Amino acid sequence: MREALLAHVKRVVVKIGSGVISNAAGLENQQVAAIAEDVCALLDRGLEVILVSSGAVAAGKGQLGISGRPQTIPQKQAAAAIGQTLIIRAYKETFLARDYNVAQVLLTRDDLSNRRRYLNARNTMMTLLEYGVTPVVNENDTVVVEEIRFGDNDNLSALVTSLVEADLLIILSDVDGLYDSNPADNPQAELIPVVERVTPTIEAMGGSSRGSLGTGGMITKLKAAKKAALSGVGTLIVNGRSPHILTRIFADEEVGTYVLPAQSRLTARKQWIAFSKKPRGKLLIDEGGRQAVIKRGKSLLPSGVCGVDGGFERGDAVRLCDRDGHEFARGVISYSLAETLQIMGKQSVEIEKILGYKYRDEVVCRDNLVLTVAGKEEIE
Ligand code: GLU
Repeated sequence: MREALLAHVKRVVVKIGSGVISNAAGLENQQVAAIAEDVCALLDRGLEVILVSSGAVAAGKGQLGISGRPQTIPQKQAAAAIGQTLIIRAYKETFLARDYNVAQVLLTRDDLSNRRRYLNARNTMMTLLEYGVTPVVNENDTVVVEEIRFGDNDNLSALVTSLVEADLLIILSDVDGLYDSNPADNPQAELIPVVERVTPTIEAMGGSSRGSLGTGGMITKLKAAKKAALSGVGTLIVNGRSPHILTRIFADEEVGTYVLPAQSRLTARKQWIAFSKKPRGKLLIDEGGRQAVIKRGKSLLPSGVCGVDGGFERGDAVRLCDRDGHEFARGVISYSLAETLQIMGKQSVEIEKILGYKYRDEVVCRDNLVLTVAGKEEIE
């Protein structure tokens, strides 16, 4: 089965967790070298690879004399600033010895939320790939503050998968994959080789396990896999400490957990609206409007809006929620908050009379709208 799934793969995002390349003492250079060797072997086969590597904080904190997790955000950011150079140096050493090269790409959530910067980042990465250079991506930890964080690099790797239109996401973790119960507590726990859809039951199996070095745990990997699935891409969650794991994947060894892609994939622009663009506010939608959007594939008209929450401008992303505040869709709004307050609950023919002008009949046009609960499958 794996063979058929991997046959068409040309471009792959490999996410490397902190726990895979570092330990309490700092960066494990020989681990980075081993993974980099494997990546070069994939390049030899003609694959394009984008690395999303964590480990900056873990690699740098020792040089600040910090043992354990850094306690303050500035400490974390300082550790990341030091560690990032060590990570890139380690990858570069192996790549250069094999006549390949790497490039550092540091991103913040704001970079990907802004359409122009998103497309810019995409162009840069595509150009690097054209030149045969492997991008090594990380969050720009030294400048980000909590509100503009990706949260974790699993999430970042899913967004990068969508950004570069990769065919496969491989998450290198320090566990073998998803188990039906926590293997640390239960020796009978069994590895799940294939996940068809990341349902709440599957997420519950991921529990809240968390490594001591990185940010995520199995749950953030499953959430990333869910985003990749909606982008039409499968995700492999495997143990990055297992020798030559990348080579073995492409030798069709059935390792780890494979999360299948969803059957219908969102267009590239809709992926950006759903995953990367940051929602600024909420619209409360009456039942008629909700049914029209969910069941009948319609745009959102002003008559369906019964409340607003938060500040937004024309062109911002907003959450479309039912009367109880539960999100069911996300979209780019054609009117500002002030305008929406005036036209909500009214017919589209009245817009021009009320405002003195009209951008369009819809508040959120279908082309700019993504369902976030398709068959109860939530995006976040
Ligand atoms: N960006 C962080 C680092 O390089 C890691 C974030 C994560 O572990 O998800 O240390």
